[in-house]
Amino acid sequence: MQTSDPNLFNKINTNISGFDEKNPPPKDLVDACVHCGFCLSTCPSYRVIGKEMDSPRGRIYLMNAIHQGQATIDETTSQHFDSCLGCLACVTTCPSGVQYDQLIAKTRPQVERNQPRSLTDKLIRSLIFNLFPYPKRLQIFLPLLWLYQKLGIQKLVRATGLLTRFFPRLAAMDSILPEVTLNPVAQNFPDIIPSQNQKRYRVGMILGCVQRLFFSPVNEATARVLTANGCEVVIPKTQGCCAALPEHQGQEKQAQTLAKQMIDSFEGTDVDYIIINAAGCGHTLKEYGHILADDPEYKEKAKQFSEKVRDVQEFLAEVGLTATLNPLTEGKLTMVYQDACHLLHGQKISLQPRQLLKQIPGVTLKEPIDAALCCGSAGVYNMLQPEVANELGQQKVNNLLNTGAKLIASANPGCSLQIKKHLRLQGKDIKLMHPMELLDSSIRGIKLDF
Ligand code: SF4
Ligand code: SF4
Repeated sequence: MQTSDPNLFNKINTNISGFDEKNPPPKDLVDACVHCGFCLSTCPSYRVIGKEMDSPRGRIYLMNAIHQGQATIDETTSQHFDSCLGCLACVTTCPSGVQYDQLIAKTRPQVERNQPRSLTDKLIRSLIFNLFPYPKRLQIFLPLLWLYQKLGIQKLVRATGLLTRFFPRLAAMDSILPEVTLNPVAQNFPDIIPSQNQKRYRVGMILGCVQRLFFSPVNEATARVLTANGCEVVIPKTQGCCAALPEHQGQEKQAQTLAKQMIDSFEGTDVDYIIINAAGCGHTLKEYGHILADDPEYKEKAKQFSEKVRDVQEFLAEVGLTATLNPLTEGKLTMVYQDACHLLHGQKISLQPRQLLKQIPGVTLKEPIDAALCCGSAGVYNMLQPEVANELGQQKVNNLLNTGAKLIASANPGCSLQIKKHLRLQGKDIKLMHPMELLDSSIRGIKLDF
């Protein structure tokens, strides 16, 4: 076995676990790994970094060594957990059913509690965790970001390359910043939007935090598609962030607080389902039972909440479209669907989006190679680990472009930003839309502009 530090497992041998007592990764789940290595070729961090310790098997070895007191949570071991994108491809691949998702979810808070971060790491993480999950705080920055773009400062900053040289993580943030709108329409949604035809379901809609400010048209399209297909849509205004962002980075307390707020905001709404249009958020919303498992007041409520959560594509494929679909272009339209990891691996949703898109008259779907490989976005991974993320982003865009498709359909805001960035860097001007925007245009008979 190749490790980045040959003495990694021999540092101490006290037989006292290097994990603290609070929810370490369960030893029986660690022991389920038979070290066969099937997962290695599908692991994006292993594909880019090429070291065993940056593979699922290597990280499980590491968890075992820490459990047995042969290694500690320190700078060296933490960097191997940090390099994991949390894409969950290994969970899909593993023939032994190893629950790596549960293992890494328990390991990250251990790292956060027991390994001090460097000052720059602390600053960037603090900026991310105090800003992104709070739409009201983020909104305060919209006018500044708008000016930053409109006055051409962003172009200047990118052209000089100074930010990349001195503050690579800030440069990574800037590189995925979408075009800023001052007053996103989703902020003005009514509390209840009636069905456009005979009501079949009463559904709640999650607005997301980044989604509601930077992808407002996707939320508008989602609401129209739902109401056109017999849904009354309920949008509680008290909802905040779903907790995906802190949960994926081991910020346990913050994730629990945000999950509880989300559950409270849907209390008493009497909805049949809770609908989400972002892959990463959907996966976390379905994990509330785990996130709040130790909370006596919320654990049952969390399970009940999660049982109602459906990805919008999963929901529509299940209940069937009733609205009439029209062609999006005069002739045929070839498009490629980009699988978001938290839909494909996290929620096992891959057929449903394809089934929906194929129902649009004139659409032909192409399949890229390595469709199941992460694009490098992975929540805030592309801001925290820009080098690995860039390599994966480039590969993903090459594979999508090689299909020859004229349009990319992407159902996750993080993937969309990452792919748009690498399309821009490669000088390619190809349309990227959320499947709900495509269905919405099709229902309304709007032709796409090519
Ligand atoms: S996680 Fe699964 S696929 Fe990977 S080495 Fe362990 S048993 Fe094999
Ligand atoms: S979650 Fe993704 S990056 Fe992490 S070990 Fe599994 S396959 Fe590799």
